[in-house]
Amino acid sequence: PRPGHSPTLQAWVDEIAERARSRLGTGRIADYIPALVNQDPERFGLALCTNDGQLYTAGDAETPFSIQSLSKVLLLSLALRTHGDALWQRVGLNPSGMPFNSLMQLETERGKPRNPFINAGAIVVADHLVGAFATPAKHLQDIARTLSGNPGVLIDHEVLASEWSHRARNAAAAYLMKAFGNLDNEVDEVLTAYFACCALRMSCRDLAVALNYLAADGRALTTGERFIPPAMAQRINALMFTSGMYDAAGDFAYRVGLPAKSGVGGGIVAVVPGRLSICAWSPALDASGNSVAAQYALELIAEDLGRWHPAPS
Ligand code: GLN
Repeated sequence: PRPGHSPTLQAWVDEIAERARSRLGTGRIADYIPALVNQDPERFGLALCTNDGQLYTAGDAETPFSIQSLSKVLLLSLALRTHGDALWQRVGLNPSGMPFNSLMQLETERGKPRNPFINAGAIVVADHLVGAFATPAKHLQDIARTLSGNPGVLIDHEVLASEWSHRARNAAAAYLMKAFGNLDNEVDEVLTAYFACCALRMSCRDLAVALNYLAADGRALTTGERFIPPAMAQRINALMFTSGMYDAAGDFAYRVGLPAKSGVGGGIVAVVPGRLSICAWSPALDASGNSVAAQYALELIAEDLGRWHPAPS
């Protein structure tokens, strides 16, 4: 990736960041993970990465933040890569219509989470990987480094410890799934791997570059190699479209219309298949756990994308 060479596109990205900053001051920082409370609500970053490797950034695009549920996309990619469609016997493919940490459906649906982007679903995916790799979180960290081209990507151990000591709800989900026979490994081991992945710190730049493979038929921008097959990228995008924004997925699809995934650290990654990847970040969240200013930035981008970055004819 290199700085983009279109001054008009850069000016557009700057303008979007400027307009999105008007939403700072609305929303709340996630406080159920104490280590996230001290984030500065005035932060806003934006990075847009085209499939030919041009990078347009604005605001705090180079500031690392806690990727949280954005890791669910990497986890899923890795699990599908190593295990293929067998995963779908243990996790569903449908929107949950429930908050990301809800336990309600787990009991009635016999320990099978609705999709891989709610916490319970990602915990099952993590279980898959605990079986396959001796150190799954470290493996994911290495992948995040390679895909982003940033060897400085790290797991934040303070966030990891904080999530661990406030794990009651995620532990409840994991134990319930264990009781239904949907976790192979020990609950503590699976939770540790899951939290470590959530605790990765990456910047908007890192994430837009790393997840560009979803826009590029599975091809990694930094290595030029195929990270996942094209059909897999398409399916992950479909899941992001239907479930990437938790119980607000429908609202977001209506307003923005792009596959996207959010995290309670305030990051949102969105994909324009065949063209580009975007990451917007600002820590204050709405009631569904999605960043207010980042959602607004994506709304503005979607509104005008055809004008600034027309689809190839
Ligand atoms: N680590 C967070 C949790 O388990 C991830 C949630 C999120 O980003 N939505 O609650």
